[in-house]
Amino acid sequence: MSKKLLLKDAHIEGIRYFETYRKQGGYTAAEKALKMTPDEILEEVKTSGLRGRGGAGFPTGMKWSFLAKPEGVPRHLVVNADESEPGTFKDRYLMEFLPHLLIEGMLISSFCLGSNVSYIYIRGEYSWIPDILEEAIEEAKAAGFLGKNILGTGFDLEIYVQRGGGAYICGEETALLESLEGKRGNPRLKPPFPAVKGLWERPTVVNNVESIAAIVPIIDITGAEYAKIGVGRSTGTKLISACGNINKPGVYEIDMTITVEEFIYSDEYCGGIKDGKRLKACIPGGSSVPIVPANLLLRTVNGEPRYMNYESLADGGFATGTMMGSGGFIVLDEDQCIVDHTMTLARFYHHESCGQCTPCREGTGWMHKILKKIEKGEGKMEDIDLLWDIQRKIEGNTICPLGDAAAWPVAAAIRHFRDEFEWHVKNPELSQTQNYGLAHY
Ligand code: SF4
Repeated sequence: MSKKLLLKDAHIEGIRYFETYRKQGGYTAAEKALKMTPDEILEEVKTSGLRGRGGAGFPTGMKWSFLAKPEGVPRHLVVNADESEPGTFKDRYLMEFLPHLLIEGMLISSFCLGSNVSYIYIRGEYSWIPDILEEAIEEAKAAGFLGKNILGTGFDLEIYVQRGGGAYICGEETALLESLEGKRGNPRLKPPFPAVKGLWERPTVVNNVESIAAIVPIIDITGAEYAKIGVGRSTGTKLISACGNINKPGVYEIDMTITVEEFIYSDEYCGGIKDGKRLKACIPGGSSVPIVPANLLLRTVNGEPRYMNYESLADGGFATGTMMGSGGFIVLDEDQCIVDHTMTLARFYHHESCGQCTPCREGTGWMHKILKKIEKGEGKMEDIDLLWDIQRKIEGNTICPLGDAAAWPVAAAIRHFRDEFEWHVKNPELSQTQNYGLAHY
């Protein structure tokens, strides 16, 4: 059974409220941290090996150490709660059931970074969660853990919750900052990076909800102990939101030493494929990461078991591997049509493109149109090559990662399921009503 650090108290009734959270030992990590120096906290975070849980997996301690500290200029911590990646809902779970874990993590992180005003930017569709967070903020303030002179340390902190307007692109950190400043959420060109010029041109750290929540156990048990959990550079625990054709969809905390097979088939996690069907493919890290067929999902090309961690999932690069990404684990059974599925994703990225750069604005639209044509049985063989060509022209040629996120699913679908695309072209009359079926393992 995986060790629980973030969700260990999630089952306790009333854990959402300060009194219960405190009774379970809540805010003791904050008390400990406020007796440390910011440099000592930073050292703990670096030692823990924590990697950003939003998708990129960049080391959090290193990110914090890049924060510029010009004299007299305020700094900010911004929590990215714009969780809009299809298949990803683990931050929602944390905020809904354990809001004080996030607030406590923000208190420790803000103290370390020197932020006296920190923000939670939350996706507009999570309409009921800001009230939960604001209630938790008020409770923490009443108990002396927020506001002026926290616990007599002289440290002040205010936390504000800002609702997004429902744009996926605002999950990209610079688009988020634009939106937080009250502007249209268009990504900025980098550099300068937010650590130097972020919110209102002030040094800013933008971190995912789960990353900030993980700061609490890191301080609690120490960075060195946290680093002992997991394997290699995949330290600590990771929340996975599992969905699709499985028996037990939900949010699971894993310690990144379990195999993908165990995660899918064990009763502790997904409980196997629904209705006893066969596993066809999986997107293990949110819709932006490459889809992998069952054979490459469960085993690497060398025949080794694939594990639920950053390195193992990526083993072999995009040709045979995928990515941990945001931890949105989407399982597809034998009945799912890959062309239809890829078309749905292409439509999503086209709709969510901000339109600033041509390859993304135009390319996503073309990919959607061509996929729709193939799916309806109106495509030609050349369309598959054209699709491949378009995704190649988008990848790496855009301002922000949405372009890559739109290109990768198309590339992986063609790479691994080309004969399914060809079947749609060759069988126009069947492609609307029948499934290509099992063909890849
Ligand atoms: Fe906008 Fe797409 Fe360019 Fe990102 S890649 S800036 S979403 S047009």
